[in-house]
Amino acid sequence: PEPVHVDVSPLFSEEEQAAMSESSEKYEFQAEVTRLMDIVINSLYKNKEIFLRELISNASDALDKARFKGIKEKNFLDTKKELEVRISYDKEARTLTIADSGVGMTKTELVENLGTVAKSGTTNFMENLGGEGDADLSMIGQFGVGFYSIYLVSEKVTVASKSNDDETQNVWSSQADGSFVVAPDPRGNTLGRGTEITMYLKDDASEYLDDYKIESLVKRYSEFITFPIYLRKTIE
Ligand code: ADP
Ligand code: MG
Repeated sequence: PEPVHVDVSPLFSEEEQAAMSESSEKYEFQAEVTRLMDIVINSLYKNKEIFLRELISNASDALDKARFKGIKEKNFLDTKKELEVRISYDKEARTLTIADSGVGMTKTELVENLGTVAKSGTTNFMENLGGEGDADLSMIGQFGVGFYSIYLVSEKVTVASKSNDDETQNVWSSQADGSFVVAPDPRGNTLGRGTEITMYLKDDASEYLDDYKIESLVKRYSEFITFPIYLRKTIE
């Protein structure tokens, strides 16, 4: 893949962005995934907040895997001892971030799990949406493609991830335009282990830049989550 320019401001400084542009690789999403992302990003579906349920559920799955590996493999958890989820937002930058200290993803896993390897659920879900089927967008998770619900509220997403099976922390980034880029994270290994997802919110998704809103959604969607979820609140 060819190097491309990646605009991930303001999460990264200008120098960091330049470093990323040098070393980034561009990939095309699998065609069905591109179609699904188009549907999600243009959807007029009202219940957009379900994206947070999907992200908490993915974080919880990754933390479960880490806990399990921690039992089987001595030292597995040394790269990050606490098993937890952290949520924060930046009102000025209009970003919402959810980070977990689960198993994380290697570069190959970022490329495969977030876009290039076909899942049967992708087509199934689209067939069941509208038309003959009676699925609505909230059922996206049941079709195994819940991650893409993030584009209900985001115009751009970056996923930084560090796995014990990859020396490097990598960043995945996409504006849902049919392609994504992956590059070594210019910040280095900031996570130890896990995944940090940053959403650049759409203009009509400002409601998520609010303590009360996030807190009530987290409470609703974390009923069966056995890991602590921390919300960094704004002091006013
Ligand atoms: P599902 O959770 O049903 O597998 P998703 O679309 O929600 O489908 O997620 C796709 C895949 O991306 C997951 O199976 C997992 O491999 C990877 N993934 C997503 N979020 C995370 C995360 N926070 N940590 C590690 N892997 C993740
Ligand atoms: Mg999921």
